[in-house]
Amino acid sequence: MVAAVPTPKYEVKDLSLASMGQKRIEWAAREMPVIKQIRERFAAEKPFAGIRLVACSHITTETANLAITLQAGGVDALLIASNPLSTQDDVAACLVSDYGIPVYAIKGEDNETYHRHVQIALDHKPNIIIDDGSDVVATLIKERQNQLSDIIGTTEETTTGIVRLQAMFNDGVLSFPAMNVNDAETKHFFDNRYGTGQSTLDGIFRATNVLLAGKAVVVAGYGWCGKGVAMRAKGLGANVIVTEINPVRAIEAAMDGFRVMPMIKAAAEGDVFVTLTGNKHVIRAEHFEVMKDGAMVSNAGHFDLEIDLQALGAKATGVKDARNFTQEYSMSNGKSIVVLGEGRLINLAAAEGHPSAVMDMSFANQALACEYLVKNQGNLEAKVHSIPEEIDRNIAALKLKGMGIEIDTLTEDQIEYINSWTVGT
Ligand code: NAD
Ligand code: SAH
Repeated sequence: MVAAVPTPKYEVKDLSLASMGQKRIEWAAREMPVIKQIRERFAAEKPFAGIRLVACSHITTETANLAITLQAGGVDALLIASNPLSTQDDVAACLVSDYGIPVYAIKGEDNETYHRHVQIALDHKPNIIIDDGSDVVATLIKERQNQLSDIIGTTEETTTGIVRLQAMFNDGVLSFPAMNVNDAETKHFFDNRYGTGQSTLDGIFRATNVLLAGKAVVVAGYGWCGKGVAMRAKGLGANVIVTEINPVRAIEAAMDGFRVMPMIKAAAEGDVFVTLTGNKHVIRAEHFEVMKDGAMVSNAGHFDLEIDLQALGAKATGVKDARNFTQEYSMSNGKSIVVLGEGRLINLAAAEGHPSAVMDMSFANQALACEYLVKNQGNLEAKVHSIPEEIDRNIAALKLKGMGIEIDTLTEDQIEYINSWTVGT
């Protein structure tokens, strides 16, 4: 813990929560050996001296460990929430009062506050933006053209943010390098799949206490996240149905043993729904119409767009809070539909997001991508860049070490064999 730091400007729920936040941040650190090693190196090398950074991320114990690591590297950081419902208020309080890091994030903040915090983040005049969904970068490009020359680059955490950055590039408005953290193998193989797989179910359980065994669970989207949720729900005895729009992914789901069908059919069969597509209105008016009484709908994809809550609200005759993060909509057809976490990421709204062990790798990519941007300042094109393979491999090697797992290495003979074409069968 850093001793007696001055309190920065901030907007958090309650600074007296800081000591609980500190305990939970330290608990998370036990599962983050890669970040720990990066922090020790950063503390010695100070790669971010003189750099201002904004991180728009879920304010969790894992993000706190990333922020402390960047701070050890000498950065002047400010944090805002990347989702109105995902902030852990004790963590936000601890970062402000124990580490002197300005944080603007309160669990349950309204949309107006969320966007005001994005403006405050840009007022920090960042050189580097760590983004999660690309809201800060999009606002910068739309509204703060005068600050573009300050930017060294951005690093993007999630699939939808990468889609948005690529659209900015295609429109010719991306004027700085963007590091694609999401597509690093040590990110999406683990975070999107195993992280979302476990934490989404954790969110559904904490919100509802539902038994999944024997239930029909509809997973919309069989990408990295969808595969994780489908796999874990199956493991708990659910009868999993997958919906897709991509024929290859649909075949994959079928061959993984899941039933595949359009949402309009799945809607009539499902007990629990999870959307993980990055797309809008995947569950909409015609689907609500045919759902069973008591069907539960949730989202673990992007913001609150995947479920058309406006259409549901228009059909409903009443809404009541059934439990925390659980609202029951009464329909004119006499049935009720239960919406979890206001249609926002259920794993971060009702639970704590991904476990620290996977965020260790995601955030190692973030930390090393920021360092890469600084080291290569002025030499990177204004486009979306993959994380260099050596960074990805290095993170995997450090993670294996932390897990106490050893693997084989190629023999000289094998290296020669795989690099030659002359030896056949
Ligand atoms: P992905 O691109 O690998 O998968 C998305 C899948 O959804 C694709 O297979 C696509 O064909 C399918 N799809 C698109 N529109 C559809 C529709 N209308 N109906 C059915 N399927 C449809 O992406 P991913 O990495 O799995 O990420 C999915 C979303 O989850 C993104 O928005 C991402 O940002 C978000 N995400 C959330 C978390 C979390 O913590 N909750 C973690 C990682 C990613
Ligand atoms: N900001 C948007 C975009 C999706 S967020 C939204 O809130 O809807 C999805 C990202 O959250 C993932 O890529 C994942 O890396 C991140 N995430 C999941 N668990 C987390 C945790 N415990 N701490 C910080 N970030 C987390």
